[in-house]
Amino acid sequence: NNEEAAAKAAALDADKGAPTIFDKIINKEIPSNIVYEDEKVLAFRDINPQAPVHVLVIPKSRDGLTELGKADPRHEEILGQLLYAAKIVAEKEGILDGFRVVINNGASACQSVYHLHLHVLGGRQMKWPPG
Ligand code: 5GP
Repeated sequence: NNEEAAAKAAALDADKGAPTIFDKIINKEIPSNIVYEDEKVLAFRDINPQAPVHVLVIPKSRDGLTELGKADPRHEEILGQLLYAAKIVAEKEGILDGFRVVINNGASACQSVYHLHLHVLGGRQMKWPPG
């Protein structure tokens, strides 16, 4: 029934709001290979790279941004900062001539960590469409 469905949805939401492994990376409780860092943004190499360059760009404060679909107007500034940081990463990594920025949003897009992150991929010929 509706009540059950709502409770289930709420539980799912609550779970997605739980702390993620990225908090430990931000706090340097677990090591990561950092490519770029500023006051608001952290960029580090993906542990399971899908291209010669595969860097994750994340907000240091999740502030409700478990996924892009949860963004609201208060997130406009950080969203711009994340995208600009992706460009800085591409520049640092020497892939400005060709790179891809990906955000997986939700289960059907294979999102696995519920702390917004941009994937910056490059260093090889990328294919289109992605899988
Ligand atoms: P998603 O599937 O949510 O779009 O991307 C999550 C990414 O985080 C994956 O590409 C995965 O390899 C990466 N990842 C998961 N755990 C860790 C970790 O502990 N360290 C690093 N560096 N990357 C991680």
